[in-house]
Amino acid sequence: MVDFIGTGRVRELVQDLGPGPFIAGLAREIEADYRRWEAFEKSPRHATHSPVGVIELMPACDGRQYAFKYVNGHPKNTAKGLLTVMAFGMLADVDTGYPRALAEMTFTTALRTAATSVVAARALARADSRVMALIGNGAQSEFQTIAFHSELGVRELRLYDVDPQATDKLISNLNLLRLPGLRVLRCGSVAQACAGADIVTTITADKRNAVILRPEMIAPGMHLNAVGGDCPGKTELHPDILCSAQTRVVVEFEPQSRIEGEIQQMPADFPVVELADVLTGRRVGRSSEREVTVFDSVGFALEDFAALRYLYRLHRERRGTRTQIDLIPDLEDPKDLYGQLGAPRTARAAVAELAEA
Ligand code: NAD
Repeated sequence: MVDFIGTGRVRELVQDLGPGPFIAGLAREIEADYRRWEAFEKSPRHATHSPVGVIELMPACDGRQYAFKYVNGHPKNTAKGLLTVMAFGMLADVDTGYPRALAEMTFTTALRTAATSVVAARALARADSRVMALIGNGAQSEFQTIAFHSELGVRELRLYDVDPQATDKLISNLNLLRLPGLRVLRCGSVAQACAGADIVTTITADKRNAVILRPEMIAPGMHLNAVGGDCPGKTELHPDILCSAQTRVVVEFEPQSRIEGEIQQMPADFPVVELADVLTGRRVGRSSEREVTVFDSVGFALEDFAALRYLYRLHRERRGTRTQIDLIPDLEDPKDLYGQLGAPRTARAAVAELAEA
């Protein structure tokens, strides 16, 4: 039997711990896995594109456990009442190849993306960062807010979305959350939201080379958490922001980010730093108070590996709903797969009959 960690169980676990502590624990897990970067077998994700979206498979393995995630990205889905991003994934043992858990990963992706954003921002943003602009107020936005409030100490949030109803939804959810000391401002444009911000998070969905941030919106010392541009032909930053001499660009896994990240707009030899190198101290994250740092986030399989292990551990340790599913046949004789199918006359029965005759 395989553990099934569905949406109801993830909701239960997040409510039990509280979303802030849940994300904090997950961020620790993700950072720990980035620090053992060499232990992982890594590859860019496998992407299947269509004119309206993408479906991706994301595997990661550390030699002991293997994980994969199925995830989509369909920006026009919300107009049909469907999610832009939904996912599920599996954690398995390398020794036997047997799966341990099948899990929902739609909530989990939003939680791990926010956790990864704060892991990067802790290493890259100025330590005194308190004001964040949040451009794109859709499904991921509350998770980013909770993470930056609890892990970075953000106390002023400046919101902008082309869809005012998305911002209404975010404000109403934040009112219910009552994050201590958080001031929330609705802005009339991206430029207004960015003015005075220490951190700018872009998390919009549009399958094109959108220009959400322009060079004139960027102030010295800002940290840009660029999350929404995550597939070929889907970016958020004006290329001049990236190639400014003042800017340092940090990516997750360079071979994947060259295809999917903001840096797809740059020449193949454009210099970038991998997050693992910053977290392990091999490379500098921020070199001065005036430097502009960019976390060019696309989402890497290692983060889902860490999230699945974290989820599995919590699921096993904490009380509540435990479900298992019969995903894999449980055989008395592993060579008698046919017999387990429950065919009218199994091989075992036939052998027994012959023996009796
Ligand atoms: P969503 O569709 O729920 O929300 C996106 C929001 O962006 C919408 O409210 C939309 O109105 C707004 N938007 C679109 N164009 C805009 C513009 N020009 N200016 C301001 N707002 C604009 O999607 P979501 O689930 O919140 O995901 C947001 C983005 O993040 C997607 O592009 C998704 O692919 C990406 N994502 C990245 C990662 C990662 O790890 N990097 C993980 C999850 C999601």
